[in-house]
Amino acid sequence: MGKHAEWRKDAKKARRKRIRQSIAKNKHDLEEKERQQREQSPTYIQLLQKHEQEEAFQKEEEARLRLKAEQRWLKIEEEAQKQWRELQKKLEEAREERIRQNLLIKLEWEREQQRLKKIKEAKEREREENERKQQLLEQEIENFIAHGGSTPEHLKQIIQMNPNKPTCPFFQKTAACRFRDSCSRNHIKPCVSRILLIPNFYSHYSLEQVETEHGDSSLEFENYETYTHFKEFFFDVLPELEKCGKIRQFKVCCNRESHLRGNVYVEYSSTREAVKGFRTFNGRWYGGKQLNVEFCNIDSWKSAICGLHSRKRCPKGSSCNFLHVFPNPHNLFHQADHDEHRSPRSTNRLESEERNWRWSESPERFTTTDDKKEKSKYEKYARNGTRPRRRSRTRSPGRRYSKSRSSSSRRESRKSRSCKKS
Ligand SMILES: [Zn+2]
Ligand SMILES: [Zn+2]
Repeated sequence: MGKHAEWRKDAKKARRKRIRQSIAKNKHDLEEKERQQREQSPTYIQLLQKHEQEEAFQKEEEARLRLKAEQRWLKIEEEAQKQWRELQKKLEEAREERIRQNLLIKLEWEREQQRLKKIKEAKEREREENERKQQLLEQEIENFIAHGGSTPEHLKQIIQMNPNKPTCPFFQKTAACRFRDSCSRNHIKPCVSRILLIPNFYSHYSLEQVETEHGDSSLEFENYETYTHFKEFFFDVLPELEKCGKIRQFKVCCNRESHLRGNVYVEYSSTREAVKGFRTFNGRWYGGKQLNVEFCNIDSWKSAICGLHSRKRCPKGSSCNFLHVFPNPHNLFHQADHDEHRSPRSTNRLESEERNWRWSESPERFTTTDDKKEKSKYEKYARNGTRPRRRSRTRSPGRRYSKSRSSSSRRESRKSRSCKKS
C-alpha cells in the first residue's frame, strides 16, 4: 500500500472521530439544555417537592412504626419478666411449703415415735407386772398344791362371758354350749373348781358318724365295739388322772355334737387336787391329741346327764344338749351320779390295770407295735364296715359270755340281738 492510502485512511479516521465528537457534543448540549429547561419548569419543581414530602412522610411513618413495635416488644418483655418473677415467687413459695411440710412430717414422725415408745414402755411395764403377778400366782398355786389350805382369793373369782345377759341354761348344767363363746347368753366359768373338763378328749370314729333317719346305723357297733374301746380308754386314762388326787366322778360323753363329743369330766374330791390335775394335764399329749383342760362347775350330775339316753329313749338323739355318757366299767363312781355330797370311794385297784399305752410327750399317736395293729384294725373297719375280730378280754356290763363259747357263736348271738332290737 502506498503513502497516500495510509494518509487517506488516517484522514478518514480522524474525520470519523471529529464527526463522532461533534455529535456527542451536540447531544450533551441538548441534554443539558433539556435538563435546565426541566429544572426550571414549575411542574418539575412541584413533582420534586411532592417526592420530598412523600419521602419525609415515609421516613416519619417508618419511625413511628418502629417506635410502636419497640413499645410493643418492651411491653411483651415486661410481661414476660413479670410472669417469670411470679413463677419464681411461686417456686420459692412451693419450696418453702415443701420444707415446711417436711418439717411437719418430721415432727409428726417424732411425735409418733415417742407415742409408740411410750406405748411400748407401757406394754413392757404391763408385761413385767403380769409376769410378776403370774409368778406370784404360780407360787401361790404351788403352795396351795403343796400345803393345801384355803383356795387363794383371786382364784375364787368367776368369769362371766356376757354379764347383764340371762344365764345360758345348757352351759350352767353341762359346762358346754353349742354356741361356745359366741352364745348370746351368759356363760359363767370358775377360775378354779373341783371339776375338770377336757373337751373332745375321748375319740372314736363311731362318734363322728351321723345318725340316719332309721335310727342309729352304728348302734350294733356302738354297743360292743365302741364300749370296748371306751373301756380301754377308761383304764388307760383313769389311773393317770388319779395320780393327782382322789376322783369323785368320771364321765365320758358319747354325744356326737362337736361341743360335747368325747368330753371328759373329772371331779376331784378337792379343788387342790383339781388344780394339780389341771397343771399336769393341760397341754399334754394323748393319742396324738393335745389336751386343753378347763375348770368347770357342774351343780348336779343328775341334771347334766341325759337320763333317757341310758334307757336308749332320748328323743333328741345326737342333737341332745345334755350329756350322753358311757356307763363306767364296774359301775364306778355311780354314787356321785345321785349323791353329790358323798365322800369319794377309793379306786386304787385300778392302778393294777394301769397301762399308759397312749400317753406321750409328742403328738405321735401310735407308737408301739400293738398300737399300730390297733390302728390298722380300726382303719379296716372304717373302710369295709366289717367288725374286726377281737378277743373279749374285758366284758361289757350286761354282756357276759362264757369262756367255752367260740368267737363265731358270740358274733351270731350279737347279730340276733341286734336283729331283735331293730
Ligand atoms: Zn350358751
Ligand atoms: Zn339326751
